[in-house]
Amino acid sequence: MTKIMNAQWRLRSRPVGMVKESDFELVEEALAEPGEGELVVRNHFIAFEPAMRGWLNDVRSYVPPVGIGETMRASTVGEVIASNNPDYAVGAMVSGMLGWQKYAITSGQAGPMGRLTKVPDGVAPQLMLSALGATGLTAYFGMVQVGEIREGDTVLVSGAAGATGSVAAQVARLKGAAKVVGIAGGPEKCKWLVEKAGLDAAIDYKSEDISKRIRQEFPDGVSLFYDNVGGEILDKALLAMTDFGRVVLCGGISAYNEEELPPGPSNYMQIVIRRLTVKGFILIDHLAQAGEAIGSLLGWINSGELIHAEDIQEGFENTPKTFLRLFEGQNLGKQLLKISDP
Ligand code: NAP
Repeated sequence: MTKIMNAQWRLRSRPVGMVKESDFELVEEALAEPGEGELVVRNHFIAFEPAMRGWLNDVRSYVPPVGIGETMRASTVGEVIASNNPDYAVGAMVSGMLGWQKYAITSGQAGPMGRLTKVPDGVAPQLMLSALGATGLTAYFGMVQVGEIREGDTVLVSGAAGATGSVAAQVARLKGAAKVVGIAGGPEKCKWLVEKAGLDAAIDYKSEDISKRIRQEFPDGVSLFYDNVGGEILDKALLAMTDFGRVVLCGGISAYNEEELPPGPSNYMQIVIRRLTVKGFILIDHLAQAGEAIGSLLGWINSGELIHAEDIQEGFENTPKTFLRLFEGQNLGKQLLKISDP
């Protein structure tokens, strides 16, 4: 293989409070030769998820933290450009946890967050990072297996215009929910949720009285609340649940960059009074059934019943900046960065 210069964004320092571009440093160095059983992937797209903020904290979690000096962990999709591995031919498009770098050397073996996946024929590569990637699968499993969505449910979804929330809300609709309402920041996102994603209503938490609007939309209560945000929104939703309602705790982005964790929900006793089932979950525990989820999601995408939005920024130099967009609410749908042409 002719010498290739690689570029990587590495963790320079652990962020305190809001993550900053300066918490990462750009390093360029020659790419090593792939060893036996290894392959080289040229990344085309990088995917961004709020959970990556948690991977920067040196705390006990479901995966080890990214180490200082290590390339930032992230899902990517790209093309195999050299291979000593018979399972992955040169020219194949693959997706995996290959990080914030232009080129990755990998064995393709499964790590704690899954193995390298081949992009199925006829599927747009970036779809493997969005509706068919971690966020789409999370939405599917969170709604179907964890939330046990059923016909007639009255469903509220927070973070609804994001990658996970937008798919979760539509899965609820497709599974026969009687009503699906999303909570999102700003009129543009709310308009998109109703006019494009087919939700019954959307609540702009930045300009509206959330409690009042939830009561208006659900006079008989919310039977299933899918929460991506936590904090005040979770607290207010707890007050609107039906007896024996279900709460799916998918994430709590409102506190990911807080130095001091806010107090827990003050409406906590609603869990007792309303006899709620509150379940947290992490996608990695459901990956064995990824094929089922991908089949359903792809079927709905191909039939036009499920739409997905991608926010595609460009340029490897913009990698940390693109990550920050998630916490500024700038993305509608999946936040991606294109770093080379497929
Ligand atoms: P996303 O929703 O596409 O992007 C993040 C969105 O969060 C932003 O666009 C913004 O939308 C909203 N947001 C940002 N800061 C906020 C704040 N302080 N308060 C309220 N909303 C805020 O990201 P995603 O990748 O789909 O992730 C959504 C949630 O799912 C996250 O909590 C993530 O950790 C969780 N997740 C969990 C799993 C799992 O296995 N459990 C897997 C993937 C993702 P607005 O403009 O509407 O504020």
